[in-house]
Amino acid sequence: MTHDPRRTSWSGTVPYHFAREHRPHDLDSLRALVAGSSHLRPVGTAHTFNDLPDAAAGAEVAAVSVAAFDELQVGDDRTWVRVGAGLTHAQLAVALEPHGLALENLASLPHLNVAGAVATATHGSGVRTGNLATQVRAVELVLASGDVVTVRRGDRDFDGTVVGLGALGVVTSLELDVVPAVDHRQVVLLDGDPETLPDRLASVLALGRSVSVFTLWDGSADRVWVKSRDGDPELGLATTGLAPMTGEQHPIPGLDPVHCTAQQGVPGPWVERLPHFRPGFLPSVGDEVQSEFHVPFEHAADAARAVRAVGEHLAVALQVAEIRAVAADTLWLSPQFGQTTCSFHFTWVGDTVLADAAARVVEEALAPFAPRPHWGKHFTLDVRRAYPRIDDFRALRDRLDPDRTFVNPWLERVLLDG
Ligand SMILES: Cc1cc2nc3c(=O)[nH]c(=O)nc-3n(C[C@H](O)[C@H](O)[C@H](O)COP(=O)(O)OP(=O)(O)OC[C@H]3O[C@@H](n4cnc5c(N)ncnc54)[C@H](O)[C@@H]3O)c2cc1C
Repeated sequence: MTHDPRRTSWSGTVPYHFAREHRPHDLDSLRALVAGSSHLRPVGTAHTFNDLPDAAAGAEVAAVSVAAFDELQVGDDRTWVRVGAGLTHAQLAVALEPHGLALENLASLPHLNVAGAVATATHGSGVRTGNLATQVRAVELVLASGDVVTVRRGDRDFDGTVVGLGALGVVTSLELDVVPAVDHRQVVLLDGDPETLPDRLASVLALGRSVSVFTLWDGSADRVWVKSRDGDPELGLATTGLAPMTGEQHPIPGLDPVHCTAQQGVPGPWVERLPHFRPGFLPSVGDEVQSEFHVPFEHAADAARAVRAVGEHLAVALQVAEIRAVAADTLWLSPQFGQTTCSFHFTWVGDTVLADAAARVVEEALAPFAPRPHWGKHFTLDVRRAYPRIDDFRALRDRLDPDRTFVNPWLERVLLDG
């Protein structure tokens, strides 16, 4: 049950400071572990780009992974499933396959742990599609006391619990909305007129079910990934100026697309089209830092112009940038709380000094639009005024974990104190 702890995040850019790592195999062992711990941090697949999951340096804090919690139960009416919190989206897709069921949306890669993705409001894209936390209809978690609670959609604490940042307890299972699995397809389109992209951004992001605009913010041609499922209307490209690209593409220009999901309209399973990267392959390049800033969708054009204006200052650190849309929700710590967002993502080089400097340039450029950063990516913004329900979240956290078992330096610095 006790293992050598992870020493860094997935990217290797964030050092971790855990004294040990526990991987309990059943609920009773987990409950005993939690009740007997003064400090503990839940970890998923460690794909965050800051010290959100980490322990305090020099402190006797253990990590706990629920990777062994991998069960799947299909709801009677086939509109929901109960999944063990240890599954990754790729593993969940394999488990759903015989049942002919799917998730409505996914992030850019399926290697993420479902619970870790939900805890940070990880998202895919779609003006009418919420982030992955909005797929949740119930959360089961082990509280600091060792008690097990299930919080359901409609319960008083639900909207505060789902995007919990590992601050409320250890999530052991989730009930998720599911849809019938149908074939999906994606096309990559070339946009030869990047100077006017900000004016067209809102309509480009509404082109299909899930749209990602990849750009270098340097005036070179942008590329637009559009994903759709069987039964969706044909893409109306006639007046958009966008043209289908021939040949497979990698989001980062110049990289071999061998790890990317199939393009050019070839039909295939949802888990091999909604993400940009294929299950079973090393996603992206690994040696990277990511940042992302969500702004209200009505500011999409102005925000894009503001980033374009500082594009030359980003070039030294930027591998590629991605623009997506995410629909509004009611989850207290979701960046989409009360607002559909236009979301500006940046994959920086793995040099944390360069990445930090570039992220600060973006933060300053987007400041007029009240950006909310992605919880799991690199940022320096003070977020405490960005979330209208933050005091409610603090009160919920105080109630569920009065002795601060799950609180770490990141939570104190970014969310709880001050
Ligand atoms: C290559 C790459 C691509 C990405 N693409 C996207 C994308 O398309 N869209 C997007 O929005 N984000 C994306 N991300 C960011 C990523 O989705 C988030 O950082 C997410 O939180 C990662 O989940 P994880 O389990 O790896 O996180 P971890 O770092 O392990 O954990 C994240 C948080 O979840 C908590 N947590 C984990 N497990 C539990 C549990 N069982 N109970 C309670 N709390 C728990 C942790 O305490 C921590 O606070 C990407 C990251 C990478 C590296």
